[in-house]
Amino acid sequence: MANTTTELEALLMQRSLSDPQLLAAAEAAADYRILPDATVIKIGGQSVIDRGRAALYPLVEEIVAVRKSHQMLIGAGAGTRARHLYSIAAGLNLPAGVLTQLGASVADQNAAMIGQLLAKYGISVVASAGLSAVPLYLAEVNAVVFSGMPPYGLWTRLAPDGVIPPYRTDAGCFLIAEQFGCKAMVFVKDENGLYTANPKTSKNAKFIPKISVDEMKAQGLHDSIIEFPVLDLLKAARHIPQVQIVNGLIPGNLTRALGGEHVGTIITAR
Ligand code: ADP
Ligand code: MG
Repeated sequence: MANTTTELEALLMQRSLSDPQLLAAAEAAADYRILPDATVIKIGGQSVIDRGRAALYPLVEEIVAVRKSHQMLIGAGAGTRARHLYSIAAGLNLPAGVLTQLGASVADQNAAMIGQLLAKYGISVVASAGLSAVPLYLAEVNAVVFSGMPPYGLWTRLAPDGVIPPYRTDAGCFLIAEQFGCKAMVFVKDENGLYTANPKTSKNAKFIPKISVDEMKAQGLHDSIIEFPVLDLLKAARHIPQVQIVNGLIPGNLTRALGGEHVGTIITAR
């Protein structure tokens, strides 16, 4: 280890930060998992939260029960109100960074509502999931709620086309799971998982229980149930080799997924 650090330091002082030998030396250090026992769950904005009480009350009940055996970072999606804002703001020719801020405010609202429902169980909302008191909350009550939008704000990376922020709450929640080296990432939505076509509009769509990122792209499914930039993030990940998408409208699915069961669609990096 000492040798690796010395070698890395020498390289860092002399080389470009994208030098291949420097990158290889940095790579030699073992990856460290910051929150290895926690699972990130993303509660879909449009797919779940926008359904209100019918979807959220049972889910909250399930979260309260399952947190006795599983640590969870609960990320809130944005949904229809964000889409409405995007359409107005894009019509006003406002830039992607402004749309990102608007979308984040909706995810904040949803996190606030989920936080109120979980408050009496001692589960709190954190203003930003970027660690701070998160480990303490997890240690005390096994769960914490956060707003799923990544905090890029005005500095959001530009999409090749249009002004809709490419990294939204699916990406924000995935990155939390990966950066903290969490145990798993579960997306809670309103379909059983990925289908060969959008099941809301194609009656003959077939369910796909497991698929890799490359297979998804080859089948033209990259822009479907999950924000497409997440697929490339998944391929680049060190800690999270797969994500599962489950139907949160079916009671018990989230609990089973947290227990490692295959109940929805698993998307694998390779
Ligand atoms: P979230 O609420 O987490 O933002 P989205 O509404 O963005 O979730 O994405 C989930 C939706 O994706 C589903 O409700 C479904 O209608 C749609 N969808 C589009 N294509 C597919 C597909 N091939 N398989 C499953 N769902 C799909
Ligand atoms: Mg979405």
